[in-house]
Amino acid sequence: MKVEKHELNDAEMPVDNTKRALFKHGLQLALMSIPIVTALNSRNVLADDESDVTKITFHYQDHPNGSMRCAQCVYYVPPAPNGLTGVCRIIDGDVIANGWCTAYRPA
Ligand code: SF4
Repeated sequence: MKVEKHELNDAEMPVDNTKRALFKHGLQLALMSIPIVTALNSRNVLADDESDVTKITFHYQDHPNGSMRCAQCVYYVPPAPNGLTGVCRIIDGDVIANGWCTAYRPA
């Protein structure tokens, strides 16, 4: 007489509430969270480079565009008396009086 081996499918498998199952599920959860954590960390890197992002977005350059330059822009805040670089209300980070970007608006 031939005995056929019957393999259980997922629906037929007994529920495994052992420590091993909990460990297995915990490990799966930890592995699934790696891409999320990685994505959040890469977003933080972007946030750290935010000044570069705005400079790139508005094509900031460290020289005038014809007669247009930061010192004549409504968004420009001159440096303190002993400072070398000014601040822009649009562009993050330092800008120089002779710089320019596409957000330029004459003062
Ligand atoms: S908006 Fe552009 S041109 Fe105006 S101050 Fe800022 S960087 Fe300079």
